Amino acid sequence: MSFKVAVIGGGLAGITAAIALAESGADVTLLEGRPRLGGATCSFSRDGLTVDTGQHVFLGCCSAYRGLLARLGMTEHTTLQDRFDVTVLAPGGKKARLRRTALPGPLHMLPALGRYPFLSLAERASVARPALAMRFVDPADPAADTQRFGDWLAQRGQSERTRRALWDLFSVSALNIAGDDASLALAAVVVKTGLLGKNNAADIGVAALPLGELHGDAGATLLAKLGAQVALNAKVTAIEPNQDGGYRVRLADDELPTDAVVLAVPHEKAAPLMPPGALPDETVAGWAGLGASPIVNVHVIYDRPVMDLPFVAAIDSPVQWVFDRTKISGISASKHGRPGHQYLAISLSAADQYADTPVAQLQEQFVPALAELFPAARDATVTEFFVTRERRATFRQAPGSGALRPKAATQMPGLALAGAWTDTGWPDTMEGAVRSGLTAAAQLKASLSTIGVPK
Ligand SMILES: Cc1cc2nc3c(=O)[nH]c(=O)nc-3n(C[C@H](O)[C@H](O)[C@H](O)COP(=O)(O)OP(=O)(O)OC[C@H]3O[C@@H](n4cnc5c(N)ncnc54)[C@H](O)[C@@H]3O)c2cc1C
Repeated sequence: MSFKVAVIGGGLAGITAAIALAESGADVTLLEGRPRLGGATCSFSRDGLTVDTGQHVFLGCCSAYRGLLARLGMTEHTTLQDRFDVTVLAPGGKKARLRRTALPGPLHMLPALGRYPFLSLAERASVARPALAMRFVDPADPAADTQRFGDWLAQRGQSERTRRALWDLFSVSALNIAGDDASLALAAVVVKTGLLGKNNAADIGVAALPLGELHGDAGATLLAKLGAQVALNAKVTAIEPNQDGGYRVRLADDELPTDAVVLAVPHEKAAPLMPPGALPDETVAGWAGLGASPIVNVHVIYDRPVMDLPFVAAIDSPVQWVFDRTKISGISASKHGRPGHQYLAISLSAADQYADTPVAQLQEQFVPALAELFPAARDATVTEFFVTRERRATFRQAPGSGALRPKAATQMPGLALAGAWTDTGWPDTMEGAVRSGLTAAAQLKASLSTIGVPK
C-alpha cells in the first residue's frame, strides 16, 4: 500500500521532493500556485524571444543539482566548464583572466590570483591570509553566523580595494548581498568550496536551454512518467491536520485529503500555511527576519555581436556579470531577430538600488557602461532593451540568518519543510533547493514509518 503525499510548491525543492517520493512508491500530488513548474527558475516569451527572468549558473560542486539534471535527462542541455575560467573586464580596456590550473585546490587558483592585474602586488600577496584562515571557519558554527564577511576580511588585511575588486566578484553573485554584509558562515561555504575544495568545485555551468524547459517542463514530464499528479494554478490556502492523522490541504475551491505534506514554498508564503503546533509560534514568526534580496536582469539586444565570450564579469562598473543569451533565446525566430544580432543579459545581484529604477534610467546607465567594457558596442545599435526584476530572489543572507532557517522536520509527523531558504547548509541556490527537497522526502519517509504508514 502506498501513502499519499501533497507537495506544495513546484520550484526545484518541490519538484525534487515529488520525484524522490514518487520513486519510492508514494502517491504524489504536486500543487503549484502558478501556471507552470520551476519556481524562481522560469522563462517567458516576449514576441517569440524566450527570456529567463534571471540568468542562473551552477558550479561543478553542485552534486545534488547535477543529480537532478541527470534524473531529468537534461545534463546534455547544460555546459560545464572543463576548468574554472572567468574573464574580468574593467572600463578602459583592462582585462584579467582568472583560470584555474590542474593543480589540486587551493593551489589551482594561485597562479591566476598572483597575476590579477586589478590589485597591487601587496594586495595580491595579502589574499593568501584570509584564504587559508577560512579553513578554520566552520559554516555550522553559530558564531560564524553572527559575523559580517567584510569585517572578517578587513581584520585579515583585506583592503577596501581587494574586497571590491576580488572578493565581491564571487560573493555578491553567490550570496546576493553586498559582499561586506554577507554572513561569514555562508561566505565560508562559498570560499571553502570554490577556493579550498576540489580543483573542479568552482567550474561554472550554465543552461543551454531556457530554464523553463530545463527544469519546469522536464520536471512535469518525469513526474507524469512516475505516475504523480501535477496540479497547476493550484494555490494552497491552508493545511489542516486531521484528528486521527493525515491532513486536508485546502485550495480556493477544493480540498485534498493526504497522509503527508511537503511544504516547499518561500518562507513568507510558508509561515501563514503552517498549522498551529507544527513548530513553536516564535520560530515561525522569526522567518520574517530572513527578509528578501532582489536580483535584476537587464536585457540588451544589439544589431551585431559585441561580446565574444559566453559570459564575463566586470569590476569598477555598475555591470556585474554579462551573459550571451543569443542562442538560448531563439532570437533568430523571434520578432527581434535578424541574423547577427546579439542578446546580452546583465545579471545584477544585491540589486536593491535598481529594484524600482525606471527602465529608461537603467538604459541611460547600462548602455554606456556596456560600451565602456566592449569596444564593439560603441558603434552598435541597441535594438531592444528591457528589464526583469525578481524582488524576492533570495532571502537576505546576512549575519543571523542561519539561526532562523528551519530543519526539514516539524513537530507534526508527516509534515516536512523544503525550500532553498531552509537549513540546508548552503546559500539560497538551486543546489540548496534540490538538497532541501531530498532531505524533506527522506525525513517524511522516516517519520511516516515510525507512525505505521508504510514506506
Ligand atoms: C533572478 C534570480 C537569479 C538567481 N540566480 C541563481 C544562480 O545563478 N544560481 C543558483 O544556484 N541560484 C540562483 N537563484 C536562486 C535559485 O533560483 C533559488 O534558490 C531556487 O530556485 C529556489 O527554489 P525553491 O524551490 O526553494 O523555491 P521557489 O523556486 O521560489 O519555488 C516555490 C514555489 O512555490 C509556489 N508557491 C508559493 N506559494 C504557494 C501556494 N500557496 N500554493 C502553491 N504553490 C505555491 C511558487 O509559485 C513557486 O513556484 C536565483 C534566483 C533568482 C530569482
